[in-house]
Amino acid sequence: MYQVFALKYGERDTTKCQFFYRESSHDTLTLDYFVWLILGGPQPLLVDTGFRDDDARARGIRNYVSPAAMVERAGVKPGDIPISLITHLHYDHWAGHSLFPNAEFWIQGEEVAFAHLTTLNYGNKIRIVEGDHEVWPGIRVHRVGGHTAGLQIVSVETRRGTVVLTSDASHFYHNVETRQPVQIITSLPEMLTAFDTIDRLAGSTKLVVAGHDPQVSERFKPVEPGIIKIA
Ligand SMILES: [Zn+2]
Repeated sequence: MYQVFALKYGERDTTKCQFFYRESSHDTLTLDYFVWLILGGPQPLLVDTGFRDDDARARGIRNYVSPAAMVERAGVKPGDIPISLITHLHYDHWAGHSLFPNAEFWIQGEEVAFAHLTTLNYGNKIRIVEGDHEVWPGIRVHRVGGHTAGLQIVSVETRRGTVVLTSDASHFYHNVETRQPVQIITSLPEMLTAFDTIDRLAGSTKLVVAGHDPQVSERFKPVEPGIIKIA
């Protein structure tokens, strides 16, 4: 069976009104930045790549630690990651791809087309996925769109139940739990349907891991600073 870890590599403050759809509150909202590591399969598998220190400096990220260093702290050499499932092509999920030199990056075709990513630039390192796809038995990607054209989420079967890594289909628990979208949208209907998909995949055990929510560290068990065991 698989084990799933959220690895936190930075944080940044914004305000609720800048982030949530039709929200008037100016309260501070802290975003945590994560990559997610899946162990217990034939090889370790990473979800997203995070970004490098140049982006961290340019964007004023607090407490930045390289995602590669976090993967190493979790016991895996960055060069030993054979596959990274890229949820979407925003910088905080994809810009760190060079940190994982031997990974193949699995991205939805619609995301690649929408972001005008030239796959030629990456040699044979990008694998295009169309729609829902089983990566290994019990690990699946699900195209949901909404936030970006080809956003995909990841479900993982574990001993405790199905873990759902929502990435930016639900930045915060507040999104999926109150059905409140975020401001950055390519398709509002798809974003709302994605909330239903998250709930359906998670079932009654509710092992939902929101994409940027500091509450992930409270709802699940940090085994050491920045390393949160989901299941
Ligand atoms: Zn994000």
